[in-house]
Amino acid sequence: MEHQSEGSQATTKIIIVDDDQFQLKLLSHQLSMVGYKNVVAFDDGQTALDHMAGQVLDSTIVILDLNMPNMDGLEFLQKLQETEFTGALLLVSGEDERVVQSAEALASSYNLWVLGHLNKPVQQEQLQKYLKQLDAQKEKSLVGEKEHSYEAARLKQAIESGELSNFYQPKVLLDTGELVGVEALVRWEHPEDGLILPDHFIDLAEENELIDSIAQQVLSSALSDSKLWKEAGINITVAVNISMYNLNTRDFISYLEKELLASGINPQDLILEVTESKLMKDYSLVLDMLTRLRLRRVNLSIDDFGTGHSSMTQLRDIPFNELKIDRGFVHSACDNATLHGIFDGSIQLAKNLGIKTVAEGVENEADWSFLDGSGCDLAQGFFIGKPMRALELREWKTQWAERYEQIAI
Ligand code: C2E
Ligand code: CA
Ligand code: CA
Repeated sequence: MEHQSEGSQATTKIIIVDDDQFQLKLLSHQLSMVGYKNVVAFDDGQTALDHMAGQVLDSTIVILDLNMPNMDGLEFLQKLQETEFTGALLLVSGEDERVVQSAEALASSYNLWVLGHLNKPVQQEQLQKYLKQLDAQKEKSLVGEKEHSYEAARLKQAIESGELSNFYQPKVLLDTGELVGVEALVRWEHPEDGLILPDHFIDLAEENELIDSIAQQVLSSALSDSKLWKEAGINITVAVNISMYNLNTRDFISYLEKELLASGINPQDLILEVTESKLMKDYSLVLDMLTRLRLRRVNLSIDDFGTGHSSMTQLRDIPFNELKIDRGFVHSACDNATLHGIFDGSIQLAKNLGIKTVAEGVENEADWSFLDGSGCDLAQGFFIGKPMRALELREWKTQWAERYEQIAI
């Protein structure tokens, strides 16, 4: 059997918890074949937890059987989250796929790090795939972002002094690969901390009434960048993310109309990607504003469709003409029957309502091929293009045209 040339075999500890003695032996053997020698096995959850107590276990993988007589896998997970465990988990079961997926979701909800799940009998290939993934993710987390936390006053200053800027991610037609639009994604160019992603400051902005000024800046830049692209012969739509919180006052519409007029951009070329806000106060006002915007030919897109933040009620009430399927249902849907089902259902639903569909989070070639023949209209994701500065779009477009020739589906 082939040995992995590099990896963390020597430094990784593996703990197997399974009541079946044969499985324990088999797995230990499979692991030692690929160079993992630091393997301990337990046929009972409590004994494993006792062993783990008081140890530093960050380079540890626990391979856990879900079906055990004394303490079952779910109880083990619950106990594990009460410890300081920071290693990774692999779940093993002979149960059907949906049950294992639920266990995986449960573990994630405990903030446990789950590499994935294995079906019994465990295939060597599958096991190795996950162990390799561990190395890759470790590397990523070493170079990953630091946790940032900012004061509202500092964010306010950043907005006022122009430290925010727009990046743009391409949206392409699945049929032809043609670039038809971009989505504006805000970034904070922090003088000391570098480029800060919106997840680190959007909530803060909402809680401190700074989200309106962010929306205004993002919208204005998006429209002026659109104008520059048009002058360069690139005729595309531009999408801006709007939290429902932005629609708590009527000022937003008048601001938007003024900006559209000043830029000369057609309302048809603007898309508002709407996400629900935790802080939404007045649903009637939101409905009123969005309907009004649609009457003025601005496009409305329901963002993160399928997640808790975006419901059927909204689809019923708000005149959306685009639906963005959340990346949670796109990425890896090719080898997950549940995701596949939800994805197909969303496309069908949109078709029934006469709404355009966008698949977001198309991250690799497998995701891209999955969309072939799916009936989805547009695709967006790292595989096609990462968010970039306005000036980089033209260069990307040329490169994409060449790449599309090779990957055309
Ligand atoms: P979103 O609207 O769902 O935007 C897509 C996010 O997914 C972006 O993250 C984008 O960089 C990321 N993404 C794109 N392709 C891929 C992929 O293939 N794989 C993966 N894993 N991720 C991908 P970003 O820029 O960090 O934005 C995060 C969220 O912040 C956005 O999610 C949006 O809800 C919010 N946001 C961004 N800009 C604004 C803004 O101007 N105003 C408001 N209110 N929210 C914004
Ligand atoms: Ca969006
Ligand atoms: Ca999303």
